[in-house]
Amino acid sequence: MASKPKRPDAAPVVIVGAGLAGLACAKVLDLNGISSIIFEASNHIGGKVATTVTDGVTIDRGFQVYLPDYPEGRRFFDHESLELQPLFRGITFDLPSGGRATLSFGEDRIEFAKSLRYISSPSDILNAARTIARSRALPQDGGQVMDLLARSSALRSTIVEPFLQGVYLGEARRVSVQELRFLWDRFRHGGASLPAAGMNALAQQLASSFMESIILDAQVSAVASRSITLADGHTVASEVTVLATSADVTASLLPGVLHDVVYSTVGALTLIAPEPIDLGTSVYVPSLRPGPILTVTDLSAVAPIYNRRAGHLVSVSYRPTGSNAHTTALNQLRATFGPVVDTWELLDVTVIDKALPITPPSSVLRTSENLVGDGLVLAGDYLESASINGALRSGRKAARTVMEKISGVGSRLEPRVK
Ligand SMILES: Cc1cc2nc3c(=O)[nH]c(=O)nc-3n(C[C@H](O)[C@H](O)[C@H](O)COP(=O)(O)OP(=O)(O)OC[C@H]3O[C@@H](n4cnc5c(N)ncnc54)[C@H](O)[C@@H]3O)c2cc1C
Repeated sequence: MASKPKRPDAAPVVIVGAGLAGLACAKVLDLNGISSIIFEASNHIGGKVATTVTDGVTIDRGFQVYLPDYPEGRRFFDHESLELQPLFRGITFDLPSGGRATLSFGEDRIEFAKSLRYISSPSDILNAARTIARSRALPQDGGQVMDLLARSSALRSTIVEPFLQGVYLGEARRVSVQELRFLWDRFRHGGASLPAAGMNALAQQLASSFMESIILDAQVSAVASRSITLADGHTVASEVTVLATSADVTASLLPGVLHDVVYSTVGALTLIAPEPIDLGTSVYVPSLRPGPILTVTDLSAVAPIYNRRAGHLVSVSYRPTGSNAHTTALNQLRATFGPVVDTWELLDVTVIDKALPITPPSSVLRTSENLVGDGLVLAGDYLESASINGALRSGRKAARTVMEKISGVGSRLEPRVK
């Protein structure tokens, strides 16, 4: 946890928000010998990547995973010290004939296509393959996956849609083919993982060399071209300010800079099951059973270190629509795993509002660059992609803009892809 440094009256660079975007920006500046001061409204660093440890159980704020093949992650993180706990490289889904099957993304495309025969006809698979191949020629954001795959396609309803719903927290409609391809390749090459100490370990590692520059519980209430003002009225002058907040906060601090950004909202249940559930280290994305559940994961199987209590730690993400959504999710769990679910202990229910920006990044900025005013630079996942990779990338780009502004040249040093 960051200490509480004295609030300065002036700093060369002020960063608003200690999420991954703000921290990545500070890290690149730090590498180049430029110190920044970071004001964070909440009492922790990492923003959406939050973790609590209670009674021997590690709970991330919502089911989240880190993909070790994220190019930006490979720049910024030392994977070894994160002690990444791998998930299975695939998903478990419902079979139209009943039961469930697990599909490996693997490296081998032919084997993957062959394994699809249990859910789809050869012509359906061929059509989908052709669509994906044709999509290479499309421009960025040139086509949405769900529009390109035929509505009748079993591949779409059984695998692609539930997979995208799970990743994009219930909002699959606006995902472009390029995004799906990027994601799929990351899963195939590196799988998914959890840091042993929880997802917030990403933020702790990123900030370790400049923790003393982070001021927590410091909400910024106004931003001008050469200063920011905190909620208690304290003003800090700066040469450059980086606004590394989510799109809605950025829009309220700097009206007129962004178009409206739509966000998804997601719910998360954490339970303890006395026995392992039948998923191994795979993530189950239900498709054929009606209900709000997006993903089910046996975290104890993936990352035993997450649970020091008896039993298996189960994480469920769900669409929190309707007044009783979490009860409906529990009913769906019962329908899927049987009456044994009544013996599971419900440890935590959390609803995360404004979880992921769904609006395509190309439709967000009213200007063409992240420098939006005299000395005002933007960073945040909504500018690149709704992911850890997108947040880090936006922070790295913001640091370049800051350095161009301060010294006339972009970053001389950037973390290299490992
Ligand atoms: C439930 C959930 C699951 C996810 N799963 C995955 C996943 O599996 N894989 C993946 O790659 N990505 C996932 N993501 C997305 C990823 O976590 C985010 O894209 C990324 O963390 C966003 O980082 P950011 O820095 O852009 O924004 P944020 O994390 O929102 O950081 C913004 C920071 O600004 C602070 N702030 C706001 N207002 C002020 C103010 N006025 N003054 C000072 N500070 C302020 C906030 O407190 C926050 O710390 C998930 C997100 C959620 C919510």
